Amino acid sequence: MDRPSALCHTETSSAPRTAPMTTAPTASFRDLDLPAALLSALTEVGYETPSPIQAACIPHLLAGHDLLGEAQTGTGKTAAFALPALARLDLNNNRPQVLVLAPTRELAIQVAEAFQKYAHHMPGFHVLPIYGGQSMVVQLRQLKRGAHVVVGTPGRIMDHLERGSLNLDGLRTLVLDEADEMLRMGFIDDVEWILEHTPAERQTALFSATMPEAIRRVAHQHLREPREVKIRAATSTVAAIRQRYWQVRGVDKLDALTRILEVEDDFDAAIVFVRTKTATVELADRLEARGHAAAALNGDMTQGLREQVIERLKGGSLDIVVATDVAARGIDVPRISHVINYDIPYDTEAYVHRIGRTGRAGRQGTAILFVAPRETRMLKTIERATRQPIEAISLPTREAVADRREAQFRQQIIETLEKEDLSFFAEVIARIEEEEGLDPHQIAAALAALATRERPLRIEESGRGWALATAPQDERRERAPRENRENREEILTRRRAFSEGLLTRYRIEVGRQHGVTPKEIVGAIANEGGIEGRYIGQIHLFDEYSTVELPKGLQGEMLGALKRIRVRQRPLAIRALAEGEGEAPRERARPAPRQYDGERPQRKYAERTEGAKRPWDGERRSPSRKPAGDRPPPKTHRKGGQKP
Ligand code: ADP
Ligand code: MG
Repeated sequence: MDRPSALCHTETSSAPRTAPMTTAPTASFRDLDLPAALLSALTEVGYETPSPIQAACIPHLLAGHDLLGEAQTGTGKTAAFALPALARLDLNNNRPQVLVLAPTRELAIQVAEAFQKYAHHMPGFHVLPIYGGQSMVVQLRQLKRGAHVVVGTPGRIMDHLERGSLNLDGLRTLVLDEADEMLRMGFIDDVEWILEHTPAERQTALFSATMPEAIRRVAHQHLREPREVKIRAATSTVAAIRQRYWQVRGVDKLDALTRILEVEDDFDAAIVFVRTKTATVELADRLEARGHAAAALNGDMTQGLREQVIERLKGGSLDIVVATDVAARGIDVPRISHVINYDIPYDTEAYVHRIGRTGRAGRQGTAILFVAPRETRMLKTIERATRQPIEAISLPTREAVADRREAQFRQQIIETLEKEDLSFFAEVIARIEEEEGLDPHQIAAALAALATRERPLRIEESGRGWALATAPQDERRERAPRENRENREEILTRRRAFSEGLLTRYRIEVGRQHGVTPKEIVGAIANEGGIEGRYIGQIHLFDEYSTVELPKGLQGEMLGALKRIRVRQRPLAIRALAEGEGEAPRERARPAPRQYDGERPQRKYAERTEGAKRPWDGERRSPSRKPAGDRPPPKTHRKGGQKP
């Protein structure tokens, strides 16, 4: 991996220390004692040298040690654990020998794909991804058939362990991938439960981009004399990424985005980050209306739809994906040339995760951040954390865009002349010239006007011409308020949950006077707090604070995470309301739009209320609204603003 190696600084320590680690990067995978089958697969996928985390971890893992690995996104952690796991595998034994826990379905799939790739020359090898949202029947059948490696999300793995459909008696290696994400998403209890229900003599490897105290504690409790590997990659992970920001002023963000996309040099595909699911759909719609091949990617979409979106992005029938952090985590599509932070992330970690979607596989990537005036502090924090200045840019002027369009138009003409047989058209023009008595320049000018109707070469002062001609009409498209479309049954489920005492009222320190809306509250709690929207009950806004109904008995990490969430620049500082506390609500907030469908981070609440009929029992409903990804690609789209 050419990206991080130059700048990475490796630190390893072990207690007790056995073999001293070298800090010099290993020259080749051959030096790592990997079997020939793996070496040839690596040659095929085109890995030349091990990345620092791979060089540091593989020897420890091959030797059977436990391991605590800290390295940022994009440093090659998957191969760091997959290669030694494969090397130690007994292919004749069809019971799961390796279990990898990953925070999201996307990641589970990606890790499973990586295993498959590396095991290309290991005949009979079988890896099985297991995640929520996939049919239980299918999974049960697959599990019965047997697999050497299982990669899954914690909730679903736990389900199978409880049912007895997954037997881990033969487990030799357990990997926790992106442990800090699992913590953030509220899975840590599930993870610990799994750790307690797997053979004690297993090898355990824990990987995380950061090492919060809670993760250290888990490591301390469940890892045996782990070797510690820490890759300092704060600057290196983003080394291949050109980072820029635009200070939001004057025009709105959508206009800014379309202008920027239009003049970006090496644009191939982009992922645009927004904060809420509603925003993914809205922005994707509007980009589509402006002629971009765009689609939304969010947690409301079924797994199948999400995969479709990624596949279309890979295949080039989509150029822009508008996503939330949760939905985009771990996406690895090499053609993503741009990451646009349309809404600024909540923290630097999220920023690093986001921009890690570009500059993949050694390519150059560009990240552009939109910074509103009140967000300048966050910009500074990000610069400090990544130890890299982010360069300010100004919006391309009308002239710049017009120049670009003209250059592209000219290029099109030249290419058409070079590549196509134009004799038929030459005759047509000759006839027009002769019969109408016209000058060829006049004819060409008329044709140029016709050819650029959709994307004028001249942009008027009034702003007309920025977008495609079809845009205004499309954008006026009637949209029913989304709230109205909310599934009635869902509202009833939540009402019932509250009346049955599963939900209780919490107080949060942001209210009407701070300009907050119920939508923002739900968005923040669902996306940042990892609480599924279905379990967020009614919200009441007061002047200085608000109340929100959430599962009873929230505590520990989960509550801690919720406390730290900021909405309208204010920490929620959430706490449960005591019986009878709080005035009668003055305003019944509309039931806020449902968010999140991550896999059940709140299973623990369900468990705590044993006996009660759990409203979240039963099948997942199908989304009440068709997300954008479901639509066929737009008829009129050009490729990401490159070619007219
Ligand atoms: P992480 O889990 O640390 O975020 P990944 O394992 O997803 O990183 O790897 C990031 C990208 O780097 C993937 O596209 C992967 O194929 C590629 N990669 C990993 N190891 C190497 C290597 N040794 N050489 C080249 N590319 C690599
Ligand atoms: Mg990873």
